[in-house]
Amino acid sequence: MEFDKRITGKTNITGVIGNPVEHSISPQLHNTIFKLLNENYIYVPFLVEKNSLEEAVKGLKASNVKGFNVTVPFKKKIMNFIDEPSKEAIMIGAVNTVKNECGKLFGYNTDAEGFARAFKNETGTDFENKNIVVIGAGGSARAIIVKLATEEANSVCIINRTLSKADEISQLIKKNLNYDIKCFQTDEIRAVENLSNADIIINATSAGLYPDTEKMPVSPSYKFTRGQIVFDLIYNPIKTKFLQCAENDGCKIFNGLGMLFYQGILSNEIWLQRKIEDEKVRQLYKEFMNDMGTK
Ligand code: NAP
Repeated sequence: MEFDKRITGKTNITGVIGNPVEHSISPQLHNTIFKLLNENYIYVPFLVEKNSLEEAVKGLKASNVKGFNVTVPFKKKIMNFIDEPSKEAIMIGAVNTVKNECGKLFGYNTDAEGFARAFKNETGTDFENKNIVVIGAGGSARAIIVKLATEEANSVCIINRTLSKADEISQLIKKNLNYDIKCFQTDEIRAVENLSNADIIINATSAGLYPDTEKMPVSPSYKFTRGQIVFDLIYNPIKTKFLQCAENDGCKIFNGLGMLFYQGILSNEIWLQRKIEDEKVRQLYKEFMNDMGTK
């Protein structure tokens, strides 16, 4: 028998808090990053009871945990317990990455930048001068829309089942970034017109997410315009019904795995306080996609 010496008294602890966390692939991603970088860090899942967030955060803050990710359903609620949220996290209204510096919690949101990096690297284009439709008005839609408005998209239109939630994001962006956004309810004629004329369509709803894989964020009879870039934040399944329909209509399709990967890289860089070399990120990306069975 050989002693397992991977974790020592000096190992730095990171992790993810959420409920559920059993299906998270972040532990595999972050532990692979730490191993590749030869860093004495470990990343573990912390399942937190839905009503016990405050106690859990107090415990993590008082311990030597270096940082943690925050996932469903705590991304918004965690804001109440962060000592210093970043400007972007305040605007988005959610934190997905926390750094613990001697009992002081710094909060960040890496979803927006993670999405932007994945989008640019995978599609080979950016948002400038593009007409973009975002379907959905939840937490991730909000993060993405802040990014699109900041990076000068020609137009952004939100389509959502509940119009009031889309309007709320539109008002926030107008107030903070002085950028106008149109909002429509799903299936409204003007929603369909905007979809048809968009250069880029992003699904930021959970319609189609496992196990409800038959659901679509638009009508199943909707016809995409050939050549459009269609991006779905969902990565389980890897190809949603929405993406399958877009592909059938001649669109270029992208799933949410890249966003998951890059938001993880950005969180890791926050904890390590250093940039991971481009070559290593490329290597990790290839391994990650191979492991997910997509490349
Ligand atoms: P959220 O805050 O709960 O928002 C959910 C959104 O989906 C709302 O706009 C909601 O509309 C809409 N929706 C839910 N069920 C629907 C249905 N059956 N038909 C039409 N619209 C429906 O969720 P979130 O955190 O923004 O996450 C949204 C999606 O992004 C999820 O699938 C999540 O897995 C994915 N995501 C991926 C990554 C990544 O790294 N790839 C990161 C974050 C999130 P209403 O407003 O009308 O309720």
